[in-house]
Amino acid sequence: MRNKLKTILAHSPKQISKVVSKIRPELQYDLFYYDMKKSDGLTSSQIDELQDKKLKAMIVHCSKHVPYYKKLFNDLNLKPHKFRSKEDLELLPIMDRSDVIKNSKYLISKKNLGSKPIIRYSSGTTGNSLKFVSGQTERLFEAARIRKQADMAGIDIRKGHYRLGLHLGDKIQKHDVARKTIFFNTKFLATKSSIYVNSMINKKYKCIKGYPSHLYFLSEAINEDNSLNLGLRAAITVSENLSDSLRKRIEKKYGCQVFNHYGMTEQVTSAMECQSHGGMHIEPLHGFIEQESEILVGTTLMNFSMPLLRYKTGDKIKIIKNKCSCGRYSNRITKINGREAEFLLSKSGKIYDFFILSNMVRNNKNIIICQFIQDEPGYVLVRLKLTNNKLSKIRHNLNGIFKNDMHFIMEKTNTFGKDKFQFIISKPAQKLIK
Ligand SMILES: [Zn+2]
Repeated sequence: MRNKLKTILAHSPKQISKVVSKIRPELQYDLFYYDMKKSDGLTSSQIDELQDKKLKAMIVHCSKHVPYYKKLFNDLNLKPHKFRSKEDLELLPIMDRSDVIKNSKYLISKKNLGSKPIIRYSSGTTGNSLKFVSGQTERLFEAARIRKQADMAGIDIRKGHYRLGLHLGDKIQKHDVARKTIFFNTKFLATKSSIYVNSMINKKYKCIKGYPSHLYFLSEAINEDNSLNLGLRAAITVSENLSDSLRKRIEKKYGCQVFNHYGMTEQVTSAMECQSHGGMHIEPLHGFIEQESEILVGTTLMNFSMPLLRYKTGDKIKIIKNKCSCGRYSNRITKINGREAEFLLSKSGKIYDFFILSNMVRNNKNIIICQFIQDEPGYVLVRLKLTNNKLSKIRHNLNGIFKNDMHFIMEKTNTFGKDKFQFIISKPAQKLIK
């Protein structure tokens, strides 16, 4: 029944598809998935045409339902019909992280977001982390996009995968049977990796997904004997810069190809490497990318709940525009200078990653900026800019996370250097993964 409906909808006028997919949300997921698959076969000019069409719809939506843009368009005396193509985006100013923080509640659409909206935070490195809201449509799109981009690596994600890098408290691993996903707790990567290797040998899922640094730590427990038994076909690397040497190491240890992925909580774009490994294809339906002094500036084409137009990310990228040997015309990101691997090593060898620490920072309202600096395992200098003089609560929170496994020196400061801010600078961590 669902298959029949899918086929009918894929060939129906857009209005009919819209009405039916509202009644049956899972069909909206199917439509997103098929639209993205179809976009793989488009030429450059067809992609431009499709993105222009989607952009016009987004601009109309913003002008009607999003208070921040309503006011902006009014102030600039801009009418939605002035936007005919992506080039017209230049009529709008570029926005950055501080603009989003300042205006976050006005950037949320007033239009009904469907079932209960989900609030997510970007990986905050200061007390001011970005808050993002997504409704049902965005969640369905995201699920469809994850499936489509895994297809590009030759993986049917619905058949199961392993995921590294989500906070699980003190659980070593968690099996989500419905989603066929086994989550490995990154905190134990340096001490309990053999448990994860055994899980992989028993389960034989074809795909593992995680930060390059986490995959590195897990690879320490993989030797020649068990490498052959893992049965992996793809390692999808996310969220951190991936060096050539680390890619080679992951390929060798896990016995599979590496596919790099680029994405962000802000949902302005995403990109995935294909089987030709010549860069990451920018997903045409997800967002449109411009560059300002090589820095990625993205405009969402599908996040209607909290749309960001011309959002400057801070990531330096290189784009190539010719046809890929895989047959796709979509532009590719070939080089990215984004986030370095950021984690701390404790006295007992445990790994504490970015998210565990940024959660702590976000939940403490006294912290304006916080930075962790480590010269040797088990010892950390915590540099803080605070709203008051109370260090005791922060020390208490840190001891709650690390128990007695890390020694802290706290330093109050107002200066964090002029270069790009880095939340965690750990010499022993960097030395390990080079
Ligand atoms: Zn390709």
